[in-house]
Amino acid sequence: MARVAFVGLGNMGLPMAINLAKAGHELHVYDTVSEALANAKAEGMHPAASAAEAAAGAEFIITMLPNGSIALKVFGEIVPAADKGAVIIDCSTIDVGSAREAHRMAGDAGLMPLDAPVSGGTSGAAAGTLTFMVGGSKAAFDKALPLLNVMGGKVVHCGDGGAGQAAKICNNMLLGISMIGACEAFALADKLGLSAQAAFDVISTSSGSCWSVNTYCPVPGVGPKSPADNGYKPGFAAELMTKDLGLSQQAAEEVHQATPMGAHALALYRQFLDNNGSGRDFSAMIEYLRSIQRDQA
Ligand code: NAD
Repeated sequence: MARVAFVGLGNMGLPMAINLAKAGHELHVYDTVSEALANAKAEGMHPAASAAEAAAGAEFIITMLPNGSIALKVFGEIVPAADKGAVIIDCSTIDVGSAREAHRMAGDAGLMPLDAPVSGGTSGAAAGTLTFMVGGSKAAFDKALPLLNVMGGKVVHCGDGGAGQAAKICNNMLLGISMIGACEAFALADKLGLSAQAAFDVISTSSGSCWSVNTYCPVPGVGPKSPADNGYKPGFAAELMTKDLGLSQQAAEEVHQATPMGAHALALYRQFLDNNGSGRDFSAMIEYLRSIQRDQA
């Protein structure tokens, strides 16, 4: 069993840390919010006074933070305090540039860095079924694999530093686009007098089938249970989709790749957030599309 530092005990980080503690690892944890530390303590973890204190002496250091600038700030505190050879795994979803900078900082200090963003949301974090998309050396990946397997159901080594973040934002850009497409199709079907059930039965078994229709249908009452059946309570909040679409646009600009559908998806999610979308699942986009005039989008 390993000594593990875990920094960032929010909606995702706390359940991930709990799974590691339950598996018998010794968890030294830090968050800027004292309530998060109290929750971790109640689960048998050791709260630290700072990120650096949590990291000192740890074999593995895991961070689960809101964005790239915070992740780099925390790396600035942790890296000088960490033992040489420690594996440092950033599971936050951040921009590819910051992920590569984090790799450089940790690598220069003799640590073994990985970027390992996840998909699967808070329910996947609690169930230990997250998908990890991992960038970094094979040696660091092999060392981290047993820990990642405790928190995840699938772990994919995507390539060098930053490759995990790249995989995550490409997938989520496609998801954002395909969810808007699904919402448009069901909203139009409705206006054309087609029942949602008939639209689902056809699309889910035809060339329009996709995860956004087959697994996470944005219309209540059809297909497997989804946030649409629960008043669009997230699920995957529209804010998080907007964040990931923003990261994919930032990356596309940096490498000069045209992603016009991704850009339009980001614009639509921003409009949705400005119009009662905040705090709702990203599939509630269908309600926004139903509420606006044809020439407004
Ligand atoms: P969250 O805001 O609930 O948690 C972030 C935690 O980091 C908070 O507890 C905050 O207090 C802590 N924090 C902030 N600054 C800190 C610092 N300087 N030092 C220590 N702790 C600090 O966010 P979350 O939902 O847990 O998401 C975490 C990351 O996972 C994000 O990058 C997000 O994009 C990604 N993600 C979230 C989901 C989801 O469904 N929530 C799904 C996939 C990926």
